[in-house]
Amino acid sequence: MTGTKALLSFIRDIYQSTGPIPLHAPLFNDAEKTSLLACLDSTFVSSAGPFVDQFEQQMAAFCQSSRAVATVNGTAALQAALHLAGVGQGDIVITQALTFVATCNAVHFLGATPAFVDVSPMSLGLCPDALQQFLTEQCGKNAAGNTVLRSTGQKIGAVVPMHTFGHPVQLDEVVAICSEWQLPLIEDAAESLGSFYRGRHTGTFGRFGALSFNGNKIITTGGGGMVLCQQIEDGVHCKHVTTTAKVAHPYQFFHDEVAFNFRMPNLNAALGCAQLTKLPSYLANKRALAGLYQNFLQDSDYQFVAEPAYAKSNYWLNAVICANEQQQQLLLKQSNNQGIMTRPVWELMHHLPMYKDCPRGSLSHSEWLAKRLVNLPSSVAPGLQP
Ligand SMILES: *Cc1c(COP(=O)(O)O)cnc(C)c1O
Repeated sequence: MTGTKALLSFIRDIYQSTGPIPLHAPLFNDAEKTSLLACLDSTFVSSAGPFVDQFEQQMAAFCQSSRAVATVNGTAALQAALHLAGVGQGDIVITQALTFVATCNAVHFLGATPAFVDVSPMSLGLCPDALQQFLTEQCGKNAAGNTVLRSTGQKIGAVVPMHTFGHPVQLDEVVAICSEWQLPLIEDAAESLGSFYRGRHTGTFGRFGALSFNGNKIITTGGGGMVLCQQIEDGVHCKHVTTTAKVAHPYQFFHDEVAFNFRMPNLNAALGCAQLTKLPSYLANKRALAGLYQNFLQDSDYQFVAEPAYAKSNYWLNAVICANEQQQQLLLKQSNNQGIMTRPVWELMHHLPMYKDCPRGSLSHSEWLAKRLVNLPSSVAPGLQP
């Protein structure tokens, strides 16, 4: 049996380090420096410039998305997407209890309330059966034909699955349920850049998808995000509402609706353009790393979280499921004491003070996983040949 001690020395071998090992560190070389210097030299560091357009176009091409609109961060991308899908004051947005808090905050800032359904232990993301059960047991149609929460009459504004640690949810099933109930689908693909569901990029199955380029994600712009839009009109409108809704004119200031200042600065996009050229090699490296972890953990108490059969995951964060809570706590304590950064999954959303009273379905898988999941160091590893 492979124990905790063996696992920690395995991690030290991979990262060839006796010092602190982060959970996920970014990686830069001359390409980023060249791109940033070119941006500085141009003086276009702020809200206009060619790197933003280039980053959006290259990202749309990589994801095979009709349009991609760059934003200041992933939370803003989610908020813009929800707003464009018509989510507003008093609405309910169905998401998973096991997610990063940004998903819920984006909902809350629009005056809407998140509702939580369970995740599937296979994907760690929104479970289609749990979604269908919540809709059947707690929702119905009102006179106007909208899907509403029966207890309060609040409109269900959208469904937001999140591809946990880069593992795609069961999208065919989720898409079918959303169309059956006529609900907009918005994917929180913040963690899943480079992850594909049956060959198609995550974030392109719903009307909108949101990406993040925060410092800990697979590629970074320092801070940044992207709205993936599948309809051309949505792409145009998304650009408009994330850039103060200014009507194009050589010199006049006219704004035709209340809008956000969510646009990504050109300086961040310059970093993003350089990072995007690295993405294929990062993906290959991380897949090789995941393979090493999986192989190493085969005869251990730790169950490695592998990509679902239908998916090609980016393996953004590697994760194990411990046998029980004691083992989880021991692994967390021993690794962090030694400077090897490991983390439990986020506190479940319905345990947070601001979201504790939100509507929810059964969350037994989420509760079970939260007591067992641990993320292992997952940065691109030096000298690892895929
Ligand atoms: C990173 C992340 C976001 C967005 O984060 P930002 O820091 O605002 O870019 C949203 N949802 C999930 C699940 C994330 O992991």
